[in-house]
Amino acid sequence: MSKRIVVAGGAGFLGSHLCERLLADGHEVLCLDNFFTGRRDNVRHLLENPRFELFRHDIIEPVSLEADEIYNLACPASPVHYQSDPVRTTKTSVLGALNLLEQATRLKAKIFQASTSEVYGDPLEHPQGESYRGSVNPVGVRACYDEGKRCAESLFFDYRRSRGTRIKVARIFNTYGPRMHPQDGRVVSNFIVQALKGEDLTIYGDGGQTRSFCYCGDLIEGFVRLMAAPDDFAGPVNLGNPGEFTILELAEKVIGLTGSRSRLVRRSLPEDDPVRRRPDISLAQRELGWSPQVDLEAGLKNTLAYFKSILNQGGEA
Ligand code: NAD
Ligand code: UDP
Repeated sequence: MSKRIVVAGGAGFLGSHLCERLLADGHEVLCLDNFFTGRRDNVRHLLENPRFELFRHDIIEPVSLEADEIYNLACPASPVHYQSDPVRTTKTSVLGALNLLEQATRLKAKIFQASTSEVYGDPLEHPQGESYRGSVNPVGVRACYDEGKRCAESLFFDYRRSRGTRIKVARIFNTYGPRMHPQDGRVVSNFIVQALKGEDLTIYGDGGQTRSFCYCGDLIEGFVRLMAAPDDFAGPVNLGNPGEFTILELAEKVIGLTGSRSRLVRRSLPEDDPVRRRPDISLAQRELGWSPQVDLEAGLKNTLAYFKSILNQGGEA
């Protein structure tokens, strides 16, 4: 059945893939975005679809919606961008969640929150399961994002308990793919753009820290399955690829796939940079029948093809 679905942050990297998927499934999609890190270009190919609408809006401000489902993806995700105006990041996470939760409650619509593995901070448990409560520095440079997202989760569960709101909370681990912004600042896009331009790949710290990289198509499948799950399954649920790689391993893979002659250069490690990250996805496997299908090499190849094409077109990088 066709639904009216709002995607806040829909012109961003993940949001644009979600809008595309929901349209392909036959739904009507209203994309809200303030274009802080998102781009009209990400959804330009959808503008001619009569079931798609694009609306410039900042979720820090209240809005009146008509929808059966709301996905809240609006928030800068890259440390460089979320730290550029930390107060705004917290406002987006907290006031944005409040505004959208009010609408979902009024409409009796389901509402999805794009939460993050950052709620686990620099984790003392490995891999990270949903019951782990995290190790976040509340006064550090990442706190605007980590604590903002933690507060948003609290709001989601308080609305559920006190107002009966139909919530869905996914904790997303590092996800990459086509339509990341060339200046996004996250590691996969940085390395690919640097390798394609023959520049040195910037390794922060000794490169021994690990991350688990999920391909965007796999993640979006997880979003849709979570939204379709019965109301009594609200999460939080980890969505990510449990393959774990050091940053040095990632750099070597990117150099191998591009055939680049780039070298590796060391840069200082950002403050509070988590040392290890790997999701325990057994809950998602059990409740959603979900697990990632695209391995790192295949996903990197697709992402590489995307960046090659935009750099060849005169390059936004
Ligand atoms: P992104 O920066 O590409 O997308 C975020 C989108 O939200 C952008 O289009 C931006 O313009 C928009 N936005 C930001 N603040 C807004 C506001 N106040 N009002 C309206 N729109 C606003 O990042 P992404 O990787 O696509 O991430 C999407 C969501 O997923 C974010 O909430 C992020 O925290 C979460 N997430 C992503 C990852 C990942 O690895 N990609 C990991 C964990 C969580
Ligand atoms: N990183 C790096 N070089 C870069 C960008 C990031 O070594 O050019 C490291 C960063 O310090 C972190 C990891 O790669 O340890 C992942 O960083 P990213 O910003 O992608 O996401 P995070 O998981 O830290 O939010």
